[in-house]
Amino acid sequence: SAVTEPGSRDPPDSKSPAITKDGQKRTIYHLDRHLHKDFPVVVSGKGNHLFTKDGRTIFDTTSGAAVSCLGHGNERVINAVHKQMTTGIPYLASSYWGSEIVDDLCKELINGTDGKMAKVYLTGSGSEAMEASAKLARQYFYENDKQTPRVNFIAREGSYHGNTIGALGISGHVARRAPYLPFLMPNVHHIPACNAYRQRKEGETDESFVARKALELEEKFLELGPETVIAFIAEPVVGAALGCVPYVPGYLRVMRDVCHKYGALLILDEVMCGMGRTGTLHAWQGEGVAPDLQTIGKGLGGGYQPIAAVLISEKVVNRLSDGSGQFVHGQTYQGMPVQAAAALEVQTILREENLMQNVATQGAYLEKRLKSLLADHPHVGDIRGKGLFWGLEFVRDKKTKEPFDPKLGVAQRVSDLALSPLYNMTLYPGGGTVDGVSGDHVILAPSYIVTKDDIDYIAKVTSDVVHQVFQEIGSL
Ligand code: PMP
Repeated sequence: SAVTEPGSRDPPDSKSPAITKDGQKRTIYHLDRHLHKDFPVVVSGKGNHLFTKDGRTIFDTTSGAAVSCLGHGNERVINAVHKQMTTGIPYLASSYWGSEIVDDLCKELINGTDGKMAKVYLTGSGSEAMEASAKLARQYFYENDKQTPRVNFIAREGSYHGNTIGALGISGHVARRAPYLPFLMPNVHHIPACNAYRQRKEGETDESFVARKALELEEKFLELGPETVIAFIAEPVVGAALGCVPYVPGYLRVMRDVCHKYGALLILDEVMCGMGRTGTLHAWQGEGVAPDLQTIGKGLGGGYQPIAAVLISEKVVNRLSDGSGQFVHGQTYQGMPVQAAAALEVQTILREENLMQNVATQGAYLEKRLKSLLADHPHVGDIRGKGLFWGLEFVRDKKTKEPFDPKLGVAQRVSDLALSPLYNMTLYPGGGTVDGVSGDHVILAPSYIVTKDDIDYIAKVTSDVVHQVFQEIGSL
């Protein structure tokens, strides 16, 4: 059976307990660790580094899952959380108590939307934010007409919007959906992703490519009956499902135009790509195309508290205020003062320290370094992203873009080798399906506080790891 040392990423043997370095058996009670792997045990963090129980220092190139945007152990955020805890009200039932710090956070968030969004609905996770946005969108039509024919959502293949029954129903992530298909949220219809690497035809310009994408959406509207569609839902830059695939210039505008032509709403999921990750506070600001509803998460609280939100445009808010005056929703852990304290401090730091500028500058440098070290590699098919959100897609054949056999687990191998004691660095592995083709990718999503030297380090280690993995695969 596999011997799993803390710090190694050997194949798991879930039937037997892990065996630690000194030969001691240790029973694992944590289901994830039991079913998957005995990961390195992390005991502390500072800046871009995580420190493990067995004495390793890991460079966190992924900010967890693109969460820890200020890095680890930020004193200002820790103090803000501590201060809120000492008031004795980390939690308040948000359905019947007011809180100044929660109000301050909402004001800060709306101030960052160029006047495009009007109100904030706070939640405890990205999945919950997606569920709330779907319900708000439905309610937008229900307020005016209790018999509204608007019952359908259109989302995209190769997308990830969360793991709850509704959010996974919206997601176009084949592998994550498969076991639960019989009871995922119904009435969600998927159109093809927007993936320039895999879909752009010979000679197609940005303009003609996005026009084709808009047509795919329009055809779906017509097929379903335009009067039955509630909203189109998309991630401006696809995260976990495809590995940092950005919208092609013009895409957000043409997709919004189709939605509005038929009276439907546009929901943008910026849980992963938002809150500064792509170099603007919101990814849609890159195009100046605001949605009707938007979800945010991850970088909102930077991992210092579980917090996410729906940003709601005036059009939707007014419909609710003028109608029933209610949003019949709510969960226990939402709008907590301690969540707000963390997120408000994270957002204040982003703004005061002008970290967006650093994301744009270091992001451009990361692109340059990755391309110079890896663009010619025979198995690196695509290097794509925006800001500090970059993905590498691996292919068996660069010309045909044929992927590797999923059984080889290429992305996982890259991530495992990166995290091994040889390299001590995180890379976020994934695989997604575009037009029936499954691919392997890894994501790089470092903190917004990275320096030029950090980027040199990240790019060099990534390149070394990729070269080594394919040397090993080549000899299989
Ligand atoms: N939407 C997107 C785009 C995401 O990347 C994620 C999480 N990876 C979610 C929604 C779900 O967020 P959470 O895991 O906080 O529920």
